[in-house]
Amino acid sequence: MSRLTGKVAVVTGGASGIGAGSCTRFVAEGARVVISDVDDERGETLAAELGEAAVFRHTDVTKEDEVAAAVQYAVDTWGSLDVMFNNAGRVGPWTFIEDTTEAEWDTAFAVLCRSAFFGIKHAAKVMREQGRGSIISTSSVGAIRSGYGPHPYSAAKAALLGLTRSVAVELAPHGVRVNALIPGGVATRIVGRGAGLDGAALDASVERMRAGIADMQPIPRAGEPADLAAAAVFLASDDSSYYTGQELVVDGGVTLGRAWPA
Ligand code: NAD
Repeated sequence: MSRLTGKVAVVTGGASGIGAGSCTRFVAEGARVVISDVDDERGETLAAELGEAAVFRHTDVTKEDEVAAAVQYAVDTWGSLDVMFNNAGRVGPWTFIEDTTEAEWDTAFAVLCRSAFFGIKHAAKVMREQGRGSIISTSSVGAIRSGYGPHPYSAAKAALLGLTRSVAVELAPHGVRVNALIPGGVATRIVGRGAGLDGAALDASVERMRAGIADMQPIPRAGEPADLAAAAVFLASDDSSYYTGQELVVDGGVTLGRAWPA
């Protein structure tokens, strides 16, 4: 458990789910982490649990100056930025295309894609100078299959893959790698949050998700944040030093097709 020793990471959406699991695993692997999120309470609680190797920084990823400030905070606090994990996300309402509003479309792209543009842009400034760095962005099976998110979500997550490939080529000669992580169904609060739930109802939504996903796919269990955190460690570490512009699918086999009939 020392694959990230000496590395400094910023994890957006770090207060919950895949982001929180990744912050926890990154610290266990020797990294120091800036937990960036709009959820101050969960972010501060996680930072306290993780101790001196983690700090929370309020960051709304739809605002360029806040993303830039999170990157600068990592550099000012720990002297470098080795890993930028653009992971914050939300799921909007499921609507028929004729009912989807311009505002919902713009919000999906702002949170899920423009946010990564900000993260990549400001991380690249630091990483190019250092001559090293790994940038990871969380996409979704919704980017490559239908039915895993409302259409603005799928479109924004697919655009993120185009951004990843394009910037990977640009930054490769400078020692900076850029990859995407593609989760399948992971038991987190994202769906309950999208439905406007909170408190116990939000927690219960995670259990419903866990049970619902298990029936759908070849590996008969829902993904857990730790499953994605393990893949994120690979992308963040020097184990993936020859890996750039790629999409790492971690989905329990769901993109292969239906589960084998019981
Ligand atoms: P989650 O709801 O547990 O965590 C998402 C985090 O993002 C939350 O802490 C939330 O506060 C934060 N966030 C939302 N808007 C933000 C903003 N404007 N600025 C900063 N932070 C913001 O959900 P999760 O499942 O861990 O989601 C993490 C990523 O994984 C998302 O990009 C999501 O789209 C993607 N994903 C999730 C699944 C799944 O099944 N859970 C599947 C595919 C992709």
